[in-house]
Amino acid sequence: MFSRILIENEVKDLPTTQKILKRFPSLPYQFIDRIDDVFGRVKKPYLQKRQNLQLFLGKKRGQLVKEAPDAYGLAGEPHYYFIHAYNCIYECEYCYLQGYFHSPDIVLFLNHDEIAIEIQNTLSRHEGTVWFHAGEFSDSLALTHLTGELPFYFDLFRKFPHAKLELRTKSANTRELLKQTPCPNIVTSFSLSPQERIKKTDLKTPSLKHRLLAMRELQEAGFPLGIHLDPIIHEDNFEESYQSLFAEMDHYLDLTSLEYISMGVVRFTSNVFHQVKKNYPDSELLAAEFSSSFDGKVRYPRPFRQWILGKIRDIALGYDVSPEKVYLCME
Ligand code: SF4
Repeated sequence: MFSRILIENEVKDLPTTQKILKRFPSLPYQFIDRIDDVFGRVKKPYLQKRQNLQLFLGKKRGQLVKEAPDAYGLAGEPHYYFIHAYNCIYECEYCYLQGYFHSPDIVLFLNHDEIAIEIQNTLSRHEGTVWFHAGEFSDSLALTHLTGELPFYFDLFRKFPHAKLELRTKSANTRELLKQTPCPNIVTSFSLSPQERIKKTDLKTPSLKHRLLAMRELQEAGFPLGIHLDPIIHEDNFEESYQSLFAEMDHYLDLTSLEYISMGVVRFTSNVFHQVKKNYPDSELLAAEFSSSFDGKVRYPRPFRQWILGKIRDIALGYDVSPEKVYLCME
């Protein structure tokens, strides 16, 4: 998967670094002072991730926990995200990461102890439930067999039942998660789309069936689950596609015991939209009518988005999902 490993001197003796080096015994590696000195210094085209993907190991510096944008999660509760990785092994055509960093190389930050302190500092500023989301700039589960941080975060969040942790993923890599004891305030949420859409747009991600099988195993083991139907991309048979998707979800899962189902229609910053056009000029994504929206993002026109979201909400309610568990993301 990787062509080379670059390791900050400060983390070279950490057990996780040693474990990762052992897993790739034939990969060349190099020690560096700071990731920032190398990562993204020379612009690396996004699609080079197909042939040449480097792995960086280091420490996250600066702000470790950030406030999430409005309408990011369930309404009425504060939401934050923390950053323990940059970039992703998958390749979704709409991915916002293609316009975000100057490089698709994977960065893993190993200073989870410092991130934990910042999470606790954030918690101390609030009363009541506070949400923390992992995986804003990466996938939360895809590399957990390498990174090994799940037991650390399970121990942390077990101590703070009013803090909720969301692990967001498109992966079916649940092996490390299943080794943990389920915790009511740690929700694993899977982004799902109709299988045809996954095949066309979510390149290299596990199939819908593999994700649903992984979810069923987790649900049966008692892990709280959420679903993100995001991004929703319109196509001619979109209602039938989402009817079938819900039928499949219902086949594998108890939908009434999900923590939430969020829905979000495809959207881009103007920079990402430009990158999508450059990287995937023939993508079906680009066939629709897009316009600049209230927050500067490029989206379908508002009445069209509302129509789409209304249709999918109706389908969800038809499966007895309670209305307060269905929310709109970033609308
Ligand atoms: S899974 Fe998420 S982070 Fe990874 S490529 Fe797809 S959209 Fe980007």
